Amino acid sequence: MSSEHSNVPKADILVIDDTPENLALLSQMLTEKGYKVRSVTKGSTALRGAKAVPPELILLDVKMPEMNGYEVCQRLKADERTRHIPVIFISALGDVFDKVKAFQAGGVDYITKPFQVEEVLARLDTHLTIRNLQIKLQQQNIQLSQEIAERTAAEDKFAKAFRACPNPIAIAAAPTEGLAAAPTEGLAAAPTEGLATYQEGQVLEVNKSFLLMSAYQEAEVIGQNINQFYSPATAEQYHQALQKCQSQGFVRNQELEFQTKSGQIKTVLLSLELIDLGGTPCTLQIMNDITERKRLENEFISLVSHELRTPMTSTIGALDLLNSGQLGALSDRSQKILNIAIRNSERLIRLVNDILDLERMKSGKITIEPVPCNLQTLLVQATETMQAMAEKAQVELILEPCTVSMRLDPDRMLQTFTNLLSNGIKFTEPGGTVKLTANLVSGDRCHIVVADTGRGIPADKLESIFERFHQVDASDSRSKGGTGLGLAICRHIIERHQGKIWVESILGTGSIFHIDLPVNINL
Ligand code: ADP
Repeated sequence: MSSEHSNVPKADILVIDDTPENLALLSQMLTEKGYKVRSVTKGSTALRGAKAVPPELILLDVKMPEMNGYEVCQRLKADERTRHIPVIFISALGDVFDKVKAFQAGGVDYITKPFQVEEVLARLDTHLTIRNLQIKLQQQNIQLSQEIAERTAAEDKFAKAFRACPNPIAIAAAPTEGLAAAPTEGLAAAPTEGLATYQEGQVLEVNKSFLLMSAYQEAEVIGQNINQFYSPATAEQYHQALQKCQSQGFVRNQELEFQTKSGQIKTVLLSLELIDLGGTPCTLQIMNDITERKRLENEFISLVSHELRTPMTSTIGALDLLNSGQLGALSDRSQKILNIAIRNSERLIRLVNDILDLERMKSGKITIEPVPCNLQTLLVQATETMQAMAEKAQVELILEPCTVSMRLDPDRMLQTFTNLLSNGIKFTEPGGTVKLTANLVSGDRCHIVVADTGRGIPADKLESIFERFHQVDASDSRSKGGTGLGLAICRHIIERHQGKIWVESILGTGSIFHIDLPVNINL
């Protein structure tokens, strides 16, 4: 767009010349070309005007009475408000014009009278362009300094939080697509200093709390692979957490075992976050040491369970005796109350038994004894056991025929199947189905599926329901008569069989529990 035809002036030019004819000539020439022109005949007036409203460029006559051009220019350059304005000197042919003095005073160029229009315009244009570029550069500089200041402040905050955090924290190089990451400035020097790459998992930084928990010196940790600090027993879980972190950017509270320098095992909840340190993709690994909490929790649960078992057994015995009628007939009302007492006592003893069962399994007091089995027989047994419950709930139990023979502990596996079927029935509305299928896959593995058409499980609970006392809804234990331990026990049994159990679900449509087992378990 040509600014000659535009309403917006090209630039604001101040022309200072004591000869009115010269002024008029320059003014007319520049105005025609689309510039906004202010013209003055005296240096002092020009200085006042320039300070009040700084122009974008000044054309300044050298030879003027009262205050010559050099002096005007010096004064302009001495003032913060006007020092950046480019000044072009005007000299007349035949005048004594000291170019050195003009440049020393702060001028950027000069033109000689009589003017050649094209030359004046070209010089003007050049210096306005330079000035505009300077302004842009200054603005970018300001923005850059602001960004640097913000970044430094953020890094400072992070460094402080990192150092002072009571949680053990490590920063390790994150997996990159087959390539090791580039080195990062500002990180503690790793033993590989001088090399161009970091290995995946290489520890770049740890905080004091990490050193305190691990009992290692900083130099023994930096540069090592973070994997070696987690116990091999939970290596698989760590690997899965890392993969999840790669795909979704973070992982929260994955329970893992951590090994200290003396070989002591700590239970930690690990949270992972993908971060970028100066171009190096890293994982921020924040740990929460819950060893003591877990020990107290286990001790408390086991103590309470043991203490409850004996009195509960005798309470149930006494209630059974009452119920048998040997002590005389009961009124209808008494019988109703007695039934409530029996039902609740049974629930309590079931809970106590489950807790103790899980505890014995975890501590290895219960061993898995695999024997050759016909899986079909076991599945039939499980469905027959649950048939009465299914009928009462008006849920159809379907068992698909299966021909798999495998080695497993029949009692423990039956416990798993009945538990899954019982859950399926409990959480399915009348008219729904619970289906049990088992197939051989890739010759040496068996895939068992318990699929229901029930209420489903929310995505964020698919993993946690396998933990002790975790339920989708806090009221499930009361309303559905569960203990919140069934799936934790199932997972233990399956893992002791060197298998895996997991669930897929769509809310409102149903849940599918999968079990993957080796056919020839070798303990
Ligand atoms: P519970 O004794 O409470 O059933 P479990 O460990 O067997 O304990 O199950 C834990 C929780 O998982 C249940 O309370 C329920 O919230 C959820 N759950 C388990 N199975 C199913 C299922 N088939 N459908 C919907 N929710 C289920």
